[in-house]
Formats: sequence, structure tokens, C-alpha cells
Amino acid sequence: MLGLMQSQPLLISGLIEFAERHHGDAEIVSRRVEGDIHRYTYKASAKRARQLANALDGLNLAFSDRVATLAWNGYRHFELYYGVSGSGRVLHTVNPRLHPDQIAWIANHAEDQVLCFDMSFLPLVQAVHAKCHTIKHFVALCDEDKLPTDSGIPNLISYEALINAQTDDYVWPSFDENTASSMCYTSGTTGNPKAALYSHRSSTLHAFAAALPDVMCISARDAILPVVPMFHVNAWGIPYSAALTGAKLVFPGPAMDGKSIYELIESEKVTYAAGVPTVWQMLLGHLKPAGLKFSTLRRTVIGGSACPPAMIRAFKDDYGIEVLHAWGMTEMSPLGTLCTLKNKHDALSEEERMAILLKQGRSIYGVDMKIVGDNGSELPWDGKTYGDLYVKGPWVVHDYYKSEGQSPLVDGWFPTGDVGTIDADGYLQITDRSKDVIKSGGEWISSIDIENIAVAHPAVAMAACIGVVHPKWDERPIVAVLVRPGMQVTREELLSFYEGKTAKWQIPDDVVFVDAIPLGATGKILKTKLREMLKDYKLP
Ligand code: ADP
Repeated sequence: MLGLMQSQPLLISGLIEFAERHHGDAEIVSRRVEGDIHRYTYKASAKRARQLANALDGLNLAFSDRVATLAWNGYRHFELYYGVSGSGRVLHTVNPRLHPDQIAWIANHAEDQVLCFDMSFLPLVQAVHAKCHTIKHFVALCDEDKLPTDSGIPNLISYEALINAQTDDYVWPSFDENTASSMCYTSGTTGNPKAALYSHRSSTLHAFAAALPDVMCISARDAILPVVPMFHVNAWGIPYSAALTGAKLVFPGPAMDGKSIYELIESEKVTYAAGVPTVWQMLLGHLKPAGLKFSTLRRTVIGGSACPPAMIRAFKDDYGIEVLHAWGMTEMSPLGTLCTLKNKHDALSEEERMAILLKQGRSIYGVDMKIVGDNGSELPWDGKTYGDLYVKGPWVVHDYYKSEGQSPLVDGWFPTGDVGTIDADGYLQITDRSKDVIKSGGEWISSIDIENIAVAHPAVAMAACIGVVHPKWDERPIVAVLVRPGMQVTREELLSFYEGKTAKWQIPDDVVFVDAIPLGATGKILKTKLREMLKDYKLP
């Protein structure tokens, strides 16, 4: 017997329709590429998303055709999120920090038909357009009068002219909720990038889950600043969860330095911000010397790479801000775990509670996880035994786009490539990426632990730990360190700083001072590049 409730497909268009009708006057504020501040409402945004949908019909795009973006976080990008997916096309957000050849490769692989780009990426598009063989329409995200006349890019049109030629008279089509809505390529640190192809159903379920109190806790009372880019894993789904809840949205555009972010938080009364640790490092670096405080910010979600305990403590102790440590990946839309306490933890001391909050957190409803050993059998949840982390759920990939049938799944579970422990209460702690774990004398050393200790030293701005070949122990850890401007620390001081903080045999064998730590396209430390930089390094 079937239930007798209404059946409505879960579609991305439903989110913007809801926001327009029930939170029509909630604001969306953007710092634009032009440098000024743009503000409008969900109502105005929904109207322009419908004009865009009409324009895409006018370009004769077929259902499921890919529309690519090279854009910062801003209102036009937000309209593309809804206009493209809502009209049945697939939004392909491209990471502009990738190498131009890689951008051309993924545009061809995705068979993009349209490329919409912010004017800051004009030189990039000029460099790659001839290599992108499927793109028929290039759209500059600007006013008609800002369009360059001699760009060399064929059929270049302005976004404003494109949508202004259309009415907002448009009815969002209804279709199977399993239809593809957007796609995102992984950074491809090994081999060619692979694309996760999200569906309307997976993105809507993820948006619901992300808004839950124990997840990102997003509500109509929030003003959210997603510093995490809309070109990488849909800015952790925030553009969807914000529409679902009617939260005010504040987009930073290209200005992601500490000063600009701080000013936007204060001027727009942001209550909530989300980003990777490197962004917050810059923000804290700006606040501390100037003695600045936040007046409205209450929470930050930090993830994408391990959030150093020193950062979580600094936010809490110095600024009274709650850090929610999150873990996920492109293949998981991206949220997997988020760290919040349980009712029973009320009885714990401050220090004991903090020890939990430093972990990557517990599963969100919808994501199941397990850790497995070398023989594939599940390992205990004791907070000590570490193993390869596997996940499954309705917003986890079961295959990559055009993978030609070679599903990455193992018995229905997706192997994340991460190594971690799970404790008896279900809290995950990521020890490492499996390829970054250091194997010393048959034991594993977590490069994340080594880095976390180094960055707790006041003179250390950034640290990255890698293993180097050792004749006796196979591998030994060394730590590359970027010193804070105007500060000093010696190798010996830093090595003695490890004493008492980790087992003696886990203390790195050496400290290498570097001028810069290589970061990848999503602001994460690029260990492959660091290993390359230090290829001639010899242990003392
Ligand atoms: P890629 O960088 O390969 O494109 P993602 O951006 O999807 O992929 O990154 C996913 C990976 O980032 C995870 O598998 C994990 O290794 C790392 N990661 C994400 N969040 C955290 C976290 N909170 N702690 C440690 N590692 C994290």
C-alpha cells in the first residue's frame, strides 16, 4: 500500500521559489568584482533567475546541457545556481585557480556549451577559449557597457544584456528529481580530475541536512558569509541551505583578505561564516595586531582540511566564537561530519568538551561511515584504532561522470582515501589522507598531528609535514615551516616544543624553514608540490 501524501520531486527550483514566496525581502549582499557593494532580495534574485532560464532557452540549450562558470561568490553566480539547474541544465562550477590547461581539459570533458565568467577571469578565458571545443557562448558577468570590444573571444555577450532581453515570465519545469543539477571536478592531485555529478534530489537533501541544528544550524535569523567558494562543491551547499531557510546571504566576491572579510562581517552584521583554515588564518592575522573584535559573528564552520586546535581555541578564547569543525569531500556534496556536542557532554569539564570539539565530528543523518582494516573488515569504534574511512548515503557519489562503468564503490561504500578513528560516541577524527600518512618502523604517524603542534607555536604561520625516506625506519617525518612575519624561531626551539605533546618517536626529525608553503586550487596545502620542492633534501 502506498502512502497518500502528495508527491513532489525535490528540485533546486523549489528552493528559490520558496525563498521568493516566504522570505522575499531577505537580503543578498555581494561585494562585486567592480569593488562596490550590491544588494537586493531573494525576490529580485528569483526574478532574474527566471529571466536567465528564459535566456538559456533562447540559446537553444538542451535539457542537461552543461553551463560552466568561472566566478567568485556573488549574486550573479547565485542566479546561475538557480537559473541553470532550475531550467534542467547542469551547472558546472569551474575552479579558476586550476592550471589553464586543466580548465580546458575539464571544459572539454564536461562538454560545456556556455561559459559565464567574472571579468577578473577575462585574461584566463582569453588564454583558454580556443582550446575549449564545445563552448558556443561566452558570457561575461557584467553590464553591457563594461564589455570589452576587442577581447578576441568569439560571440562574447554580457550577462546583463542576455537576461535583460528576457521577461521573468517563466514556470520552472518539473522533472525527475534524480536529474543531474550540477557538477564539480576534484582537484586531481593524482591523474586527471574526476567529476562528481550532483542531482536535484541529492542537493536538496544535502541542503535540508546542512541546515539542521547539529549541522550548520542555519536559520532565517542568520546572516551567512560563505567565504568557501561557490566554484568548489557548491560552497558547501550554503547557497541552497540559505534559500531553504531564508537566511541573509553575504558574498565576499574576490576580496578574501583578512581586512576585507572583517569589514564585510561588521558592516553586514554577519552572524555566521564558513571557510577553509587558510582563510581564517588570514582573518586572525588581521585582527590580532589591530586589537579588533567581532560585534555580531557567533559561529564559523571550518573544514576542507584539518582545523588546527590552536585556531579553534583562538576563536573561542579571544573572540568568543564557536568553531564548528567539519569534514567532507567533493564526492560527498560535501558534508559528512560536523562537530557538535551531545546532551550527555554537558556534564564534562570545559577541557573535556574542547577535546571532543577538536575532532572532525559525527555523522550527519544521511551519511553512514565505517573504518576498515587492510583486509576490508570493519574496525572498532574505540577512538584509537585507525583505518580507511568509507562512507555511504544519498549525497555520496556512486560513480564519477563518464567513468565508463568503473564504480569507485566497494560493497556499496565509497572509499574516501582518508584515514581516521571513530570513538564510541561516533566522533570521527581524521588522522591523515592515506597517501600522506607517514609509515615509520611499521607504525603510522599522523602528519596532521605534527602540523597542529607546529602551528600552536606563536612564531609559526603555517606548517606542513611530509615523510622522507629513512634507511632504518622506512620513513621519518619532517616539518616545513613558514615563520610569521617579524617573528623568529630556531629548529631546536621548535623540536623541543614537541616534547610532551606527542610520543618521542613521532617528533619530526627535522624542521625546514620555507618562504612559502605551496597551496592547491582550493587553498589546501599541496603536499605533492612540497615533496617536489624538497626532493633533494637529506635527513640530518
Ligand atoms: P580535493 O582537494 O581532492 O578536490 P576535496 O576538496 O573534496 O577534494 O577535499 C576532500 C578532502 O579534504 C578529504 O578527503 C580530506 O582529506 C580533506 N578534509 C576535508 N575536511 C577536513 C577536515 N576537517 N580535517 C581533515 N581533512 C579534511
